[in-house]
Amino acid sequence: TPGTVPAALRAAATTYADRVALVDGSTTLRFTQLHDAVRATARGYLALGLEPGDTVCVWAPNSWEWVVAGLAVSYAGGVLVPVNTRYKGEEVADVVERSRARLCVVADGFLGRSQVDELRAAAAARGTGGDALPGLDRVAAVVSIGATTAEGTTALASLGDLGAAVEDIDAVAAAVRPDDIADILFTSGTTGRSKGVLTTHEQTLAAARVWTRTCRVTEADRYLVISPFFHSYGYKVGIVASLVSGCALHPMAAFDAEEALAMIERDRLTIVPGAPTIFHSLLESPAFATTDTSSLRLANTGSASIPPRLVERMLGELSFELVITAFGMTECVVATMARPGDPDEVVTTTNGRAVEGLEMRVVDPATGEVREAGTAGEIQLRGPMVMQGYLDDPVATAEAIEPDGWLHTGDLGTVDADGNMRITDRLKDMYVCGGFNVYPAEVEAALARLDGVVEAAVVGVPDERMGEVGAAFVVRRADSDLTGEQVVAFLRERIANFKVPRHVELVPELPRNAAHKVLKPELRARATTKDA
Ligand code: ATP
Ligand code: MG
Repeated sequence: TPGTVPAALRAAATTYADRVALVDGSTTLRFTQLHDAVRATARGYLALGLEPGDTVCVWAPNSWEWVVAGLAVSYAGGVLVPVNTRYKGEEVADVVERSRARLCVVADGFLGRSQVDELRAAAAARGTGGDALPGLDRVAAVVSIGATTAEGTTALASLGDLGAAVEDIDAVAAAVRPDDIADILFTSGTTGRSKGVLTTHEQTLAAARVWTRTCRVTEADRYLVISPFFHSYGYKVGIVASLVSGCALHPMAAFDAEEALAMIERDRLTIVPGAPTIFHSLLESPAFATTDTSSLRLANTGSASIPPRLVERMLGELSFELVITAFGMTECVVATMARPGDPDEVVTTTNGRAVEGLEMRVVDPATGEVREAGTAGEIQLRGPMVMQGYLDDPVATAEAIEPDGWLHTGDLGTVDADGNMRITDRLKDMYVCGGFNVYPAEVEAALARLDGVVEAAVVGVPDERMGEVGAAFVVRRADSDLTGEQVVAFLRERIANFKVPRHVELVPELPRNAAHKVLKPELRARATTKDA
């Protein structure tokens, strides 16, 4: 059934009414209360000058206010542009400008600095403009979330009063069409500059629906939201998923294993989606031994490959009933998923099958020819969930989506005869050493089996003789005295010589982005400078 985000919220307020929608610290909102708060905020946006189709940036950590502020953008007929909380003022000013935002909602003071001041300074450096953000003349107002309100901003809490005269907010919401652009989410920037991804209301809802249906999420579920709301997982498979399933959201502003465990025990949480490292952290936390995690039902992992051993521990030690592995991307949020009831082997060694309504194929990246089942190539997807395109970038859009609708994922993998997909690596991460393809993910998996290794990342770096050679960055356990030579010796016994990294560096931690993904361009730059 097609629909819109505002229609889904109205339906949730009717269907789930007094059930809990959101728990954030001491704040609990029921679906009817959430609906009312969103309506009041949406009225305020209109009073501030928002018109249908205008974009609104929301730059804040996960919180109940984010949910209200974000859903109110849709309710007022606007386009939601969530902004990465790790960004600094200049990067945010860039997103505000690129998305031509009319309003900016900012949680001032998170991370102990004034985001509003930072954004104003960055905007001012761009030249003359409006009063709200000098230098960015489309921005009519800055709305601030939280107790303190920076000078010249409007408090989110005051929007209800401000918009009191706006009478027909439900009519504005009802005028939103399923094929209107609902949101512009930015890719994680793992391989380069983040791209803005345009999706319609129908597509955003489709992602939420297919995920909740596959995971059998119901109104009895309580969901720990670790993914940031500015990421497609946190927003579409988090906030929007709660509207279509009635589950309660328990957002975390910043991941902390001890705090997450405390929340799981106290609130009897049932669902935890997250990157594999999240579950690793929960298991390694000193608090784990004394925490009751028996309420846990479903873990959904994605973003990166998950070691089979970790899945075992999630089922055995964290007491999840079900671990579902999935693969997706901002451009097609929910692409493949294992299904409940799939054999363990499918769950631990594949990313599952294409979700309902989505086609998948494997293509030779060099020739564009479609490959048979079982042969490796680029994974491509086609279906209604595939994005409309990238914001203001027809060239990148044409590169990403074929005229007949197939989306290039940029990921290499295989699809077996049953339709189960296995990711090998990113096309961009693969490198060629002496004429042989090396998939860093394979080398990393081998490294993970070496005692004393917490985690490792491998990148290809230029080499005069071999074209490219591998450089490994290895994080040791605190009590380990493992050396680079031992790492090399271990790998030499297990994988082909051309796959063994030439350089090994022991590092205290790996650089990661907000989606918890290792930033390989940063490692490549580090390895290359070291070499020179
Ligand atoms: P950018 O496109 O800006 O470089 P990004 O691709 O990391 O960043 P996202 O859209 O957040 O941004 O992530 C999608 C990518 O994450 C996929 O293309 C894939 O490489 C990786 N990914 C997602 N799920 C999995 C998984 N289950 N296993 C391995 N990799 C995964
Ligand atoms: Mg990408």
